[in-house]
Amino acid sequence: MVTDNNSAYPIWHPYTQMQTDGTPVKMVRGEGAHLFDEQGEQYIDAVASWWTNIHGHSHPAIATAIAAQAKQLEQVIFAGFTHPAAIELAEQLLRRIPFHHKVFYSDNGSTAVEAAIKMALQFWWNLGQEKRKIIAFRDAYHGDTFGAMSVSARGVFTAPYSPLLFDVVFIDTPVKGSEAAALMQLKSVLSEETKNEIAAFIFEPLVLGSAGMLMYEPEVLNEMIAIGKAHQVLTIADEVMTGFGRTGKFLATDYCAHKPDIICLSKGITGGFMPFAATTCTQAIYDAFLSNDRAKMLFHGHSYTGNPLGCAAGIAGLRLFEEENTLGNVARIEKQHAVFAEQLSGHRNIKEVRQRGTILAIELKPKGEGGYLSSVRNTAYHFFMDRKIILRPLGNVLYVLPPYCITTHDLELVHTAIRDFVESV
Ligand SMILES: *Cc1c(COP(=O)(O)O)cnc(C)c1O
Repeated sequence: MVTDNNSAYPIWHPYTQMQTDGTPVKMVRGEGAHLFDEQGEQYIDAVASWWTNIHGHSHPAIATAIAAQAKQLEQVIFAGFTHPAAIELAEQLLRRIPFHHKVFYSDNGSTAVEAAIKMALQFWWNLGQEKRKIIAFRDAYHGDTFGAMSVSARGVFTAPYSPLLFDVVFIDTPVKGSEAAALMQLKSVLSEETKNEIAAFIFEPLVLGSAGMLMYEPEVLNEMIAIGKAHQVLTIADEVMTGFGRTGKFLATDYCAHKPDIICLSKGITGGFMPFAATTCTQAIYDAFLSNDRAKMLFHGHSYTGNPLGCAAGIAGLRLFEEENTLGNVARIEKQHAVFAEQLSGHRNIKEVRQRGTILAIELKPKGEGGYLSSVRNTAYHFFMDRKIILRPLGNVLYVLPPYCITTHDLELVHTAIRDFVESV
């Protein structure tokens, strides 16, 4: 018989085995990089609340902006209508993505990816070309809706649905040692007779988050974007996690000279305040949807598309980048991580230490079963929770991905706890 420890509890949580994962910790307050539970215990949020929080919890500037917007206009249908906050946010985003010309809004990372995929497929459809296939990295994660799952790694996340996912051409992720193979696979896919069927190449730039913070270099990404362009393949950068300073620059693709045709943004876009997302694109993509024929418009939208509260949070968050020198904080975290990474590297229990910008990942040597469901994960999670640090390892990979306002002292506490854990395994 199935026993449920939480039978009186009314919520089904995401990525949670409700039978064994224990009662969720009830958080009642947040401030800076800290969360506070019902008992007033303080936790360091070292994963930025699922990678969304960049400026700190309940930042007064963003809270005030949302409250002001809520009193003015909370929501308006976004077909046939627009509003000032939506226009200002789009202008602000395009100022930072000057090679793009239009912003399409949605509500979360998965929908930003769905919109990007549909834009790319319909772009070719509108031009009368039979391009239906998408290239993706073998280890990719692009979200949990069916299109986003289809372009993601086939594995434990997607197994129950795999027969229903559409076919994708997977190539190796160009991590250290696999660059040449990945480049060769990309070139050979595009030079086979299938080449005219490839509509788009989607990738997480520089860091594959859910795969366990796998990392690769800007040089190889730059070359891959160039190859895509040379073969009339649209390039889609899924910057849902890497955007908004996470990798040290505003966008991870800012490390590359060649630019993607489409960019997906979410997570950091509202600083963790509102579910919100944007998909930006070039003039050429947008132009392919212009027609006297209504059948050529983009058939995508959500009830909350362009929600004014999300826009207000987005504008306030971008303003903080200047007012609080956010990228300066990012650089400070990057330096502190680098010193710690240096100290850890070569440890007998560690397979690899990886870092890009504010993301530090420590891959432990596998003991028995590896992967997302690895048992190290649970031990580690509880070890850090006992120390009032929220870290949610991905299998054998411990990672830190903090709000940028985390103090040097708090980051030191996180690093020390990691060192202790690594010693203890
Ligand atoms: C989190 C994530 C998504 C999905 O975003 P949701 O808001 O969780 O739907 C897509 N792509 C990447 C790279 C992500 O990290």
